[in-house]
Amino acid sequence: MTSWQQAAAGDSALMNDFQTICGFGGRLSGTGQDEAAMEWALTRLREIGPDVRRVSVPYDGWRCLASSLTLLGGKPANLECVPLLRSASTAPEGLEGTVLDLGAGRPEDFERAGDAVRGKIVLVRHEYPFSQGHVHRRRKYDMAVAQGAVAFLIANPLPGAGPLSGSSGRPRDGAGIPAAYIDHEAALALAAQPGARVRLHIQGEELRDSMACAGILDLPGGRDSRIVISAHMDGHDLGCSALDNATGVAVALAAARILEPRLGPGTPGLRICFFTAEEWALAGSARYLADMPATERDTLKFNINLDTVAGDDTLCALISEYPALAGVVDGAAARAGVAVSHWLPFMPNSDHANFAKHGIPALRLVAGFEKPESRVRHILSRGDVAGIIHEDELRNALAVTCAMASLALDMSDDDLDALKAGSTCPRV
Ligand SMILES: [Zn+2]
Repeated sequence: MTSWQQAAAGDSALMNDFQTICGFGGRLSGTGQDEAAMEWALTRLREIGPDVRRVSVPYDGWRCLASSLTLLGGKPANLECVPLLRSASTAPEGLEGTVLDLGAGRPEDFERAGDAVRGKIVLVRHEYPFSQGHVHRRRKYDMAVAQGAVAFLIANPLPGAGPLSGSSGRPRDGAGIPAAYIDHEAALALAAQPGARVRLHIQGEELRDSMACAGILDLPGGRDSRIVISAHMDGHDLGCSALDNATGVAVALAAARILEPRLGPGTPGLRICFFTAEEWALAGSARYLADMPATERDTLKFNINLDTVAGDDTLCALISEYPALAGVVDGAAARAGVAVSHWLPFMPNSDHANFAKHGIPALRLVAGFEKPESRVRHILSRGDVAGIIHEDELRNALAVTCAMASLALDMSDDDLDALKAGSTCPRV
């Protein structure tokens, strides 16, 4: 065993913390569960260091008041649906229309359908998000809007797994169309009847003055520069957001405990950031970083974002078009004794994307990259519960996180700044 594996194996609170976070429920921002979990996390952070604060950040809150989907023709049948966060509402009596099945709903599918999309209720399929070729829900939604669809249905491709939950990304008072997840069986029923007519009813409510929060622990070193370990606390309410992201928060807490004694006059500081409103198109971290004085932002040298770090026995670092981070990942994997692959293209699927866009070398550690059959497939579904997480996977993620952070803590500020070399990451 390497020293980092020993340290990870020796952290006795890791599994308890993980179970406690799951115990708060799905932690959807706006329900209060994310706030309660954050209060608990702040208490845990105070046991590691005194410089703990809670930063409030506004975001575009919204809640669903009512929703239904009815297959018309013959005997009307109710199909289960879950509106996307911030979906546009239908008229109070609902929206009746013809379903156009675009299969996966990839760019080529929309291109082929062309003008036939106009006025239709488009049906597409969700794709496993952690693979190089996948097309994100919000891109499919945007294509449907751009081509004149009147509503958007996106199906979970997994049989018996229910619908999913996710964000539409529609801004406050922004244009958009009613949009909802459905389950595999509902999609089969719709696909079996070309030209099927449905009535979709979604009533949502804009919540003005919604506030999300970030929980911050600063552990000082000997210099102003800082290494940041982040994880989002919020989730979705079908399951208990165990994969996404009780795993990341529990590992970040344990990493802070293990790394705290390593900080000293010769090292940068370590900052732990817990975000909420991540599931709302990354709104929490976007606002936290945008509101931060540029002088403070300049001290943040490297972001290790932990999101869905167990659920499979493989780990990948998404290094956000910062090619120099590949060396950090390889070095840390060797030190941790745990294999970690890396993927260079920018993937704006978690809070690391906001750090990266501010010019801060940033990566997301994720389990199950290119493993659609892994337990990570339960993400965003009612199957995202504590029981699917294996302790050894969580401990491997912890060993890798400690090894990456430790490697960065040993670097000079010049070496840390060199991690930006050759980056082609898009900027804010
Ligand atoms: Zn996540």
